[in-house]
Amino acid sequence: MKANIVLLPGDGIGPEVVAEAVQVLDAVAAQFGHEFTYTERLMGGCSIDRHGVALTGEVLADCQAADAVLLGAVGGPKWDDPATKVRPEQGLLGLRKGLGVYANLRPVRVHPDLVNASPLKPEKLGGVDILVIRELTGGLYFGQPKGRSIVDGRERGVDTLEYWDYEIQRVLDLAFRLAASRRKKVTSVDKANVLESSRLWRKIAASTAAAHPEIALDHMLVDTASMRLISSPAAFDVLVTENMFGDILTDEASVLAGSMGLLPSASLGDSGPGLYEPIHGSAPDIAGRGLANPLGTILSAALLLRHSLNLPREAAAIEAAVNDALSAGARSADLGGRSSTTAMTAAVLAHLGAAESV
Ligand code: NAD
Repeated sequence: MKANIVLLPGDGIGPEVVAEAVQVLDAVAAQFGHEFTYTERLMGGCSIDRHGVALTGEVLADCQAADAVLLGAVGGPKWDDPATKVRPEQGLLGLRKGLGVYANLRPVRVHPDLVNASPLKPEKLGGVDILVIRELTGGLYFGQPKGRSIVDGRERGVDTLEYWDYEIQRVLDLAFRLAASRRKKVTSVDKANVLESSRLWRKIAASTAAAHPEIALDHMLVDTASMRLISSPAAFDVLVTENMFGDILTDEASVLAGSMGLLPSASLGDSGPGLYEPIHGSAPDIAGRGLANPLGTILSAALLLRHSLNLPREAAAIEAAVNDALSAGARSADLGGRSSTTAMTAAVLAHLGAAESV
């Protein structure tokens, strides 16, 4: 198969980890007889420096025309001034909207040898295998009206939490579809005791479940879900929720795995290219020092192969190689070890069968 992948390395450690993931993609291409071509573009702070905006129309058009987009991370202290109107995150939001990717998938698994890297007790972590699905283009982050104003001498800030039925339906459909090939359990997280948009969410979740009798549906309030994620994480299979709840719960869930540097994500829509990125940020504190853990980005490349290129065998090969590299002792600094960024990749390549030795 031939595929064109747009690379948006971004800022901080983004370029370092994306370069590692490309090596793994190239190794998979060689091993399985595929041809991947890459188009590298600026997005985030680096684009602000060059073009004055975080995402140009040309870069968005390149992304829309690609088979998939692999992103590193954006942002950093240089662009953090709260008074500025142009911010690196605007590129992320523009990209999500422009690609129509409405569902963010974050698989969270705990490698048995890394249970001690997590702040949770090891006995809580056995069997943790969660797919968190966050609605990505609706809710509080996009609703109008939004803004700040002075009213009668007092300053007021407003955000609007709005959901349409179709926005809820499509992300729940995806959750049920993906649950069918897993442990067949969906936990739909809302705040239906307080929020009208959550009551609509819950109604649609119930009607979706009625059409999928083979899948078990639980409704759970977001406050309960935040507690259960750390008290009994192995009980979750697919967890699906709206944008802001998902933003918070996905970071909480990431703690289970031991390091943010390990976790991948995929953002998907109905058609067009998916957007793949590690869940961590640009980590300016370690940028340029060869310390970044590339596994989250390498695993994001595996999700790219599975969801955008329909190459499940190749995706599984990368996931197995990452697993084996960790079992063999590859440990970057965030995992309490001394392996450099390139050594972590070399370990993965060795287990893919594409390198001589670790
Ligand atoms: P961060 O995720 O960049 O870093 C948090 C901590 O985790 C840091 O100590 C960092 O060194 C460590 N870390 C992160 N990724 C790592 C990796 N792959 N290997 C080893 N250690 C890793 O979060 P932050 O410090 O809050 O944010 C830094 C910048 O990143 C900010 O400008 C923020 O806005 C931006 N950010 C971007 C994204 C994105 O691009 N999607 C997401 C979150 C934060």
